[in-house]
Amino acid sequence: TEACLGAIDAADALNAFAHKTPEIALERAREADARLKAGDAPDMCGIPLGIKDLFCTEGVATQAASKILQGFKPEYESTVTSQLRASGAVMLGKLNMDEFAMGSSNETACYGDVVNPWKVDDRKLTPGGSSGGSAAAVAADLCLGATGTDTGGSIRQPAAFTGIVGMKPTYGRCSRWGVVAFASSLDQAGPMTRTVRDAAIMLGAMAGHDAKDSTSADLAVPDFEAALTGDIKGRKIGIPREYRMEGTPEAIEKLWAEGTEMLRDAGAEIVDISLPHTKYALPAYYVIAPAEASSNLARYDGVRYGHRATLNAGDGITEMYENTRAQGFGPEVQRRVMIGTYVLSAGFYDAYYNRARKVRALIKRDFDEVFAAGVDAILTPATPSPAFGLGEMADADPVEMYLNDVFTVTVNLAGLPGIAVPTGLDSKGLPLGLQLIGKPWGEADLLNTAYVLE
Ligand code: GLN
Repeated sequence: TEACLGAIDAADALNAFAHKTPEIALERAREADARLKAGDAPDMCGIPLGIKDLFCTEGVATQAASKILQGFKPEYESTVTSQLRASGAVMLGKLNMDEFAMGSSNETACYGDVVNPWKVDDRKLTPGGSSGGSAAAVAADLCLGATGTDTGGSIRQPAAFTGIVGMKPTYGRCSRWGVVAFASSLDQAGPMTRTVRDAAIMLGAMAGHDAKDSTSADLAVPDFEAALTGDIKGRKIGIPREYRMEGTPEAIEKLWAEGTEMLRDAGAEIVDISLPHTKYALPAYYVIAPAEASSNLARYDGVRYGHRATLNAGDGITEMYENTRAQGFGPEVQRRVMIGTYVLSAGFYDAYYNRARKVRALIKRDFDEVFAAGVDAILTPATPSPAFGLGEMADADPVEMYLNDVFTVTVNLAGLPGIAVPTGLDSKGLPLGLQLIGKPWGEADLLNTAYVLE
């Protein structure tokens, strides 16, 4: 813990940590020492972790990287972080992220951009988003693991951009209670770690049924670490033809082919598969996610939390709401609230929101059919490119940024587990990742396949 705290201070330039909590860290490390001495050492005992700023942490600033939550210190702890704590983990601080987890480059945070520890010719690169602080912190050895959340790729894309492992569990595997909501039917918490083994151990501590989240599954948590046998003989791995997209860099195509061969060499059977509705996933996601966000973000009204605009003489409650939200939300969050409100409005509900929900069902059916036909896991690239330069996309058409999620959003729409594994470097030496998609509740198997690929 002391070594990590030192490394965090020395790495201020990365801007990975938004709130450091050294006193809490040292106190929990001492508790962990005592537990170890007493012979009571749970899985995460003494392991220093960074916590994404989206998780409510009792008495510790929790802002979702938004100005609107300035000064908010929750009176409660999220289920995931309290389980990690119960398992002996040590919280080092709160990690920077995109505002309300909306973004793919960690450039929308009120704390400023996060810098990827990997660079090319001194060009500053994005660590990806929205869990960019988590990814940068793990990649730069500032902590042994970090919590992330993934609504459309926010664990897997930054993991791929920084050369680490990032897993989005099946929807319902980890409780969402106490995690600031973005799009509730898509949000899932998951581990971001250096290795697949670490991901297996950390997921074991994060997962489990929680009566406080009605979408949390009442299922036993398997021993994920014990599943890492490296034996994948006879497993059927699908390669979806719709994920071969025009414009994918050669290095990513090559990596994908090499990953396929690795799995084949380990005894897996490789099959071509089709997921015909893939091309509708991004448009459906960018209707559903903003719709849910516009509803979830209605609670930030200047009354209950954080920032409140100063009132001018004659201002009423409407001006207070308007000015608070105009000042407190950044441009990307405002865009999502406007899109979401529009697609949910009476005149457009059927044309956009309802249609997107139908498309979502078709996307899920594509996966159901492939799994019913005997496929155990699906291998795809994690991202359509390596990490890009900070500022490079920020002024572009927002849709350009949204295209980053092309390989990841399908997994959230279908509620499946997905994992990004670092598997190679591009010609400039930047990390690239592959994604494995598994069956619902198939995390143990998925981790074992990822273990072979690592
Ligand atoms: N990049 C996607 C978005 O901006 C995904 C974000 C996420 O998974 N939290 O919505």
